[in-house]
Amino acid sequence: MYLVQYRVDSGEYEKGSNACQMCRKIIINAGIKEFVVRIDDNNYNIINVEDWIKEDELLQGKITY
Ligand SMILES: [Zn+2]
Repeated sequence: MYLVQYRVDSGEYEKGSNACQMCRKIIINAGIKEFVVRIDDNNYNIINVEDWIKEDELLQGKITY
């Protein structure tokens, strides 16, 4: 899955883009393995979706909803 986000005011790439917690759940449940975020014209941040599962604060008991 790929994500590219632009700022409306400047037209620049939003370099800190990432999936929110709700979208992460959907992406994980869809079985997507890799989440690729465009940082600029030549660089991408490639995220292993399995890392989200390992880092999930709900599963670690740090936060509850
Ligand atoms: Zn989201």
